[in-house]
Amino acid sequence: MDKLDKSIEIPNTITVGDLAAKLDIPVTDLITELIKNGVMATLNDSIDFDTAVIIVGELDLNVELNRADTAETVPAAVKTKRKNAKTAPRPPVVAVMGHVDHGKTTLLDAIRGAQVVEGEAGGITQYISAYQVEHAGRTITFLDTPGHEAFSSLRQHGAYLTDLVVLVVAADDGVKPQTIEAIKYAQQANVKIMVAINKTDKSGANVNRVLQELADNNLAPEQWGGDTVVVEVSALKKQGIDKLLEMILLVTDVEELKADSVGPAEGIVIESHMEQGRGAVVSVLVEHGQLKPGDYLSAGQAYGKVRTLEDYQGQPVDSAGPSTPATVTGLKAMPNFGVLFRVHPSDKAARAEAALAESVKSANQMASTGVELLDQIHKDRSNKELPVLVKADVRGSVTSVVDSLQALGKDEVSIRVVNSGVGSIKESDIARASATGAIIYGFNVDLPANLKRSALQDGVSIRIYKIIYELIDNAKSELETLMVPDIVEEDIGRLLIKGVFNTTKSEIICGGEVTKGQVRPGVLVKIYRDKQLIGQAVVNTVQTGQIETKEVSAGEMCGLRLATEEKITLKEGDRLEFFTRESVKRKL
Ligand code: GDP
Repeated sequence: MDKLDKSIEIPNTITVGDLAAKLDIPVTDLITELIKNGVMATLNDSIDFDTAVIIVGELDLNVELNRADTAETVPAAVKTKRKNAKTAPRPPVVAVMGHVDHGKTTLLDAIRGAQVVEGEAGGITQYISAYQVEHAGRTITFLDTPGHEAFSSLRQHGAYLTDLVVLVVAADDGVKPQTIEAIKYAQQANVKIMVAINKTDKSGANVNRVLQELADNNLAPEQWGGDTVVVEVSALKKQGIDKLLEMILLVTDVEELKADSVGPAEGIVIESHMEQGRGAVVSVLVEHGQLKPGDYLSAGQAYGKVRTLEDYQGQPVDSAGPSTPATVTGLKAMPNFGVLFRVHPSDKAARAEAALAESVKSANQMASTGVELLDQIHKDRSNKELPVLVKADVRGSVTSVVDSLQALGKDEVSIRVVNSGVGSIKESDIARASATGAIIYGFNVDLPANLKRSALQDGVSIRIYKIIYELIDNAKSELETLMVPDIVEEDIGRLLIKGVFNTTKSEIICGGEVTKGQVRPGVLVKIYRDKQLIGQAVVNTVQTGQIETKEVSAGEMCGLRLATEEKITLKEGDRLEFFTRESVKRKL
């Protein structure tokens, strides 16, 4: 093994900023490497020890990381802040997890239905990712996003936002693989677990068997002298819900949950979507401080001034404090699920933070889309399959939909029917589609609202049609997107290099005179020295003087930032040829 220059101790989780400081490298380098490895993180996000080891290995820094001997689970920055801040009690944040079909959605609906102010519940049509209920004069916040993906994403971005996992286990089915997985998630994230044994109304219910299975999985029930609180419920019959809420308060009271109740807000994005007339509608869960209309907010690459602030029921509010879900409008883009949001003193500060996230993203895009674009010509045209799952009202229509879909196939692309059947779409269809990456096509069938929600969470696309050729047309255009597009290149300009200011592995900063046509950000570049092609790049930014511009034409001087795949040492006198490469969708 190579001798390592340095050994650094870090805790179980560390913020990106702290890790960069310890490594003594620019934080943007670290963020770029994280993104290359599929971890979207910004300065104040935390990563775990194992991720840090992988990233630091990739960075080739000759540094060895060691796990500091500490039980730290909350990111250091958060902990310090909490300690120093004026804190006040806050409601617990609860996530519901468990095996598919054990009743998570029904339970969340029962809790919401039982407690939410009468009259409001019916009015809520939009999808809300969290809600609050009152019990015994106190508030509990529920994350309305059952499902492991949602939870694991939250975990990545700070599981400290979830205080308790309610593990739903069906009394007639017992502990199943996803139950065990949920236990693992919660334990890894150091989140307390309590158990709701559901479906106790069913004739096949066997509570004792479930208790035994829980005990076998390190969740010794209180009834048996252990310390896991277990409550028996029937989500369907709305039995045991009060008791469950009471126990949630009891279990989380032990933690003495607190947060900064004043000052600028920060928290996490739990949902976002576009709405006509309102723009980006973003649901957040506030962790600290008070979120208010007019606040300058940044969330990942999105930023903006909070135009409207609503509670989870869509009612306008003046502020939202710790553990409170709220919906904001006014952001100029849609942030991703799980990113942290923060309030800044000015629009400029919010924009700067978003720009930092954006620059990191574009550096990463160079690593993916830019390079992909450069390589596009060589893409292979061998057969690609579009997996689909078909449900239809009667046997005859199943057959004709499947036959028509299969007839769409050509050499290059074809449809693979992973499953088909008669009847409405079920949870098991969604699970299957999720596992195979299939689109679900429904013909003359229903889609219950709770399944719509599961599909959303699992990232499964469900398309229901009543007219067969519309269904086939949709599948056809999906297939067309799989076909390798035709590539059309257009020459747009030339530049003579007059100076090179900085060169790194992935970027060249240079200047010169545009001798023909024009140059714009985003265009591709071929670099020639004495008529010989020495490399390719993408124009990231174009500047005249200190100012970034959208276009510079022949006869003018400009500065360029070029993104490159490998280090290219430019010299005065080299020539750049700018071109665009457009991919043109082909038709079946
Ligand atoms: P999830 O996949 O965990 O969200 O499960 P769902 O909430 O979608 O429930 C799956 C099925 O179990 C549905 O058909 C529910 O109506 C049914 N179900 C849920 N809770 C109960 C219950 O307490 N008793 C009975 N008998 N059925 C239930």
